[in-house]
Amino acid sequence: MRLQNKVALITGGSSGIGRETALLFAQEGAKVVVTDINDTEGEATVKMIKEAGNDAAYFHADVAKATDCEAMVAFAEKTYGALHILFNNAGIMHNDDGDSVSTEESVFDLTMNINVKGVFFGCKYGIPALRRAGGGSIINTASFVAHLGAATPQLAYTASKGAVLSMTRELAVIHARENIRVNALCPGPLRTELLMKFLNTEEKKQRRLVHIPMGRFGEAKEMAKATLFLASDESSYTTGTEFLVDGGITAAYVTPE
Ligand code: NAD
Repeated sequence: MRLQNKVALITGGSSGIGRETALLFAQEGAKVVVTDINDTEGEATVKMIKEAGNDAAYFHADVAKATDCEAMVAFAEKTYGALHILFNNAGIMHNDDGDSVSTEESVFDLTMNINVKGVFFGCKYGIPALRRAGGGSIINTASFVAHLGAATPQLAYTASKGAVLSMTRELAVIHARENIRVNALCPGPLRTELLMKFLNTEEKKQRRLVHIPMGRFGEAKEMAKATLFLASDESSYTTGTEFLVDGGITAAYVTPE
């Protein structure tokens, strides 16, 4: 097992990438703290893990709140004795996110508070715990949109993921000699609730699919496998990377017919 004796905390563990990663980490031997604001689905993730014979606990935490983030890390250490893996994954893509003219300030602020400040708070309280454990791995979920601009605008979201990516690089450099690795996962367009709610017509979906060489949306399970690599010791010399798992979208100039 690739995460034997490790304790992992996952934000946004009630759905999509977070849920699939929680299931996979637990299967690989980790004790998993699932956190989210959706308590019903978060408890459901834990139930799935326990039904598979593995160990997990749920903790309610809004990543935009410092006190919640401090408490979730304390919960992990109290429940399982340490923290080795921190997956700062929670994020939103607001339906009213548009271009600079149409996007309300409140939508921009909300997106930044969850997507960017959430990662900052995770690290602010998580890094001291990783130090106490003798080191560990942090994975921050950015996005392919940190690399490419789109004519279908989601300006606040794109700006937030650019911030996650640059924050990840600097965190990696700062903590490299403390045995703490920090990497960004940059998923391509996925068939999860977050994107399917945004691309809510067949026409919008097709408009996006045209740009993906593989011609399909990615699956949350495929992100979980990439995250497992970054979380485990198999990636022991990998830090500060932008791990693109995107069906080739960022490599494409023209896609196959
Ligand atoms: P999802 O909507 O299925 O899951 C996101 C989870 O985050 C939900 O359980 C939600 O309740 C939780 N969440 C929202 N606000 C929160 C808050 N304030 N505090 C704690 N939890 C909160 O989406 P997903 O596709 O699994 O997204 C996970 C991450 O992947 C996000 O950061 C997203 O931006 C990123 N991402 C997604 C795609 C995609 O196409 N779906 C592509 C690139 C990056």
